[in-house]
Formats: sequence, structure tokens, C-alpha cells
Amino acid sequence: MAKFKGYTITSPYGNRSHPISSSSDFHSGVDLVKYHKAPISAFTSGTVIYAGFGNNGTGLGGYGNVVLLRDRNNREQMYAHLDSVVVTKGQTIAQNQVIGYQGSTGYVTGSHLHYEVRKIVEAKPPYGYRPDKKSSTLNPIPYLNNFDLDGLLETGDSGSVVRKLQRDLIKLGFALPKYGADGVFGQETESAVRSFQSAENLAVDGIVGPNTNAKLDKQTTLVSNYPGIIKNGSRGDVVRIIQRRVFAKADGIFGTQTEKKVKEYQQRNGLKVDGIVGPKTWGKLFG
Ligand SMILES: [Zn+2]
Repeated sequence: MAKFKGYTITSPYGNRSHPISSSSDFHSGVDLVKYHKAPISAFTSGTVIYAGFGNNGTGLGGYGNVVLLRDRNNREQMYAHLDSVVVTKGQTIAQNQVIGYQGSTGYVTGSHLHYEVRKIVEAKPPYGYRPDKKSSTLNPIPYLNNFDLDGLLETGDSGSVVRKLQRDLIKLGFALPKYGADGVFGQETESAVRSFQSAENLAVDGIVGPNTNAKLDKQTTLVSNYPGIIKNGSRGDVVRIIQRRVFAKADGIFGTQTEKKVKEYQQRNGLKVDGIVGPKTWGKLFG
């Protein structure tokens, strides 16, 4: 479990005898120990929805100093019993960013980190807490193991998957003029993803999740096969993609302006200048 590197798991998730009350209890998180006042880094990126002492009756009682993060899966990650917290509500947290220090605040027998994943995200009491802890929380270990495998791409990622994303964006007319398909998801790629999301009426967050991926797949499939001649009077998604590539207004309607831009593209690329997207112009655009 790479995410818990440097920690000892002192109490797993699930049914246990409570260490203080000795009564049977469902342990809603996992207890992790580094050393007292060790810096605690966020296991994933997220946004702080609570940082500070958890008062009784708020869903955070007994947990001492707490940091709650809303993650990109829309789950609530709780880092509890902290000696101190170093983040504030509303702050965006990167994976591995220090959020506080291991401590023994709240209802504890010793210094440790209680890490919990609550299914419901709530920015106010009861902060995703439900009396049925078993059904309102997730086992953190498989949760974090799957977190990296969910296919999300975002700033900071790199590799062949990012390169494919970049090639697709370029093909669809979302240019990466400075870095091209370099396999590094930086600001330029994020900005292109945002433009794509905006054009496709998706939530604009610059992160490639399932919805953005589905649209990317649909659009790249659309241009993977020559559909026949596209010319003045043609309409639809393919026209919009062509318009972006030739720097025409991407309204999906092939009119005189688009025809002019196609002619300019043909001129620049040594093609026959007729303003018609036939097989040769298509091949240059998408081949
Ligand atoms: Zn615990």
C-alpha cells in the first residue's frame, strides 16, 4: 500500500473492540502511526471543507483537530486527532501536501492519525457522519488503491496516456502551440482541456474524468474515418472540428466564411484550393 508508506497501521477499518470503552464498535477509518508531530500529507488532492477542532454533536466530536477534504470523486476524507492543522477552509490541496501534524487530540489512547473516507460530502454538520458508520464510510485502503486507477488525468500527470490525450486535443482543434504532445500535463494542456469542456458543454474543471473522456472518445472516433465530402452547406460536429482546425468560427455550419478558411488551409498545405473537404484535405487534417 504505497499511499501509507512510512506509516504503521495500528488499527484497520471494520469491526473491533473499542480501545477505550471496550465495547464492540465499528472502526470507521484506519489508524496510522508515524511518530508524534510527524507531518501528515494528503493522500490525494482535494479541497478543504473543514479544518480545526471537531466539536461534539457536529459529526466530528471526539476526533480532536480535524481536516476534511472533498476529493475529486466527491467523497469526504477525514484526517483526525491532529496535533495541529496548517490548512484553512476553501483551500485547494495537492496530493502529498502537508495538512497538519500527527497528534493525540480528541478521544484517543495515544498519538496517531485516524484516516476515514465518508461517502457523503457535507460542508456543515454532521459532515457526512451517519450513525450507521458501516454503510456511510468506505474502507480507505481499497478506496485509495482505486483512486489512482480511475482514469482521471489532471495537471501534474505524465506519460503515454497524457501524450494520447494531447494528440487527441490537437486533432480536435485544441492547439498546444508551445509544448505540443510532450506527455506532460501542464498549464497548456489544462487550458486546452478547459476549452474542450467548454465547447462540449461539460463542467469546466480542466480534469479529464469519465464525462470528458467519453466526449473525447466520441469526437476522435468521429474523425477517425473519412465520412465523405464536406462542403458549403454541411453541418454538425465534424464541421465544428474542421472549423477549429482551420481557424473558422466553430458553429457547426459550413458557410462562406468556413469555405474561405478551408481554402486558406489548403493553400498553406499545398492542396488543391477548392474550399471542399475531400479525401486529400481530410487526410491532411486528420490522417
Ligand atoms: Zn481510528
